[in-house]
Amino acid sequence: MIYFDNAATTPTLKEAEELFLRLNGQYFGNPSSSHAFGREANRLLEEARKKILSFLKVEDHDSLLFTSGATESNNLAIKGTALHYQNRGRKIITSAVEHPSILNAVKELQKYGFEIVVLPVNSKGQVERDTLKNAMDGNTILVSIMAVNNEVGSINDLQGLSEVVHTFPKALFHVDATQAIGKISLPYEMADLLSFSGHKFGAFKGCGGLVYKSNIVFEPLNSGGEQEKGFRAGTVNMPAFVSMAAALEIALRDLDKNYQSVGVLQGFILQNLLETNEFELNSPRDGLPYVLNLSTTRKKASVVLEALSERGIFLSSVSACSSKGEPVSYVLTAIGKSKAEASNSLRLSFSPRNTLEEAKTFMTAMTEILHEVHDR
Ligand code: PMP
Repeated sequence: MIYFDNAATTPTLKEAEELFLRLNGQYFGNPSSSHAFGREANRLLEEARKKILSFLKVEDHDSLLFTSGATESNNLAIKGTALHYQNRGRKIITSAVEHPSILNAVKELQKYGFEIVVLPVNSKGQVERDTLKNAMDGNTILVSIMAVNNEVGSINDLQGLSEVVHTFPKALFHVDATQAIGKISLPYEMADLLSFSGHKFGAFKGCGGLVYKSNIVFEPLNSGGEQEKGFRAGTVNMPAFVSMAAALEIALRDLDKNYQSVGVLQGFILQNLLETNEFELNSPRDGLPYVLNLSTTRKKASVVLEALSERGIFLSSVSACSSKGEPVSYVLTAIGKSKAEASNSLRLSFSPRNTLEEAKTFMTAMTEILHEVHDR
């Protein structure tokens, strides 16, 4: 099998899996129990929390809420803060290329009278500083912009955008960093709230986090116990979060080396695909090399993807989260691509564990498929 769909999810790292199994067996106590066994589980959980904050270099002024992943973190960041701070103002700003967990969360708030502004992006998929500046006003309570786009890999200028947001003292800056954390070091400390998912960097599915400045308050989405400072009720899955900290540590330890090796792989595939004259590049040249998005110019992308899948080579068209609905990519439409381009895209997304050998096998298979498949 060749797996080029790592933006959808990654295989779990062996180290994380082993740690999970060991902790789950040895320290199965409920971290909220007051006996010594529960306190031990809680100690491990709190250690993991501190480690993640220090890995992300945000430990001085921030807190971390453990969640089931970026979808939950994004919902909490958007709905939880909007509900809490609605007396300060009712305007929320986001961008046209955010993940559905942002776009659908703000849509939900619109029903309750919040004013939602969805900013356009430039042809590279980035939100421009001036576009944000023109949309901001004293009624704005929240701005949510992603760090790296999951379909095309564009990288936003978090520093610049944060400066714009923070000229308005009532506005909070939320960053969905799901595709960035563990792959690229960005000024994450600029965000007031930061979402991520563990399974994008080798941890288990179903665990993630929301980093937030300690003075921020949200309305919880679930009613229940006092776990996670009352912001997220329910028994905490300590082994999953401790192993997530371990996976993040490994990803960050190898960050530069991984970035380089993925860059070489991406460069090889990009050059070879463009040489077939069958593809147009959608990803920006200065985007994150982990994501490579192209559109077929003559073939139907879904047919090419299916032929690759039959050969055991797995990649996506639009992101996994959107693939069951509308087949036309709203991200590609937002960066100015035509309907034909936006409905014929391939997204390859890499892991440092992918090899050049796999890239060569992929290209051989692709060349054969391009000869076999009829033009659309
Ligand atoms: N935001 C972005 C940018 C993503 O790529 C994803 C996952 N595709 C999510 C949020 C949601 O993550 P999860 O499905 O783990 O909740």
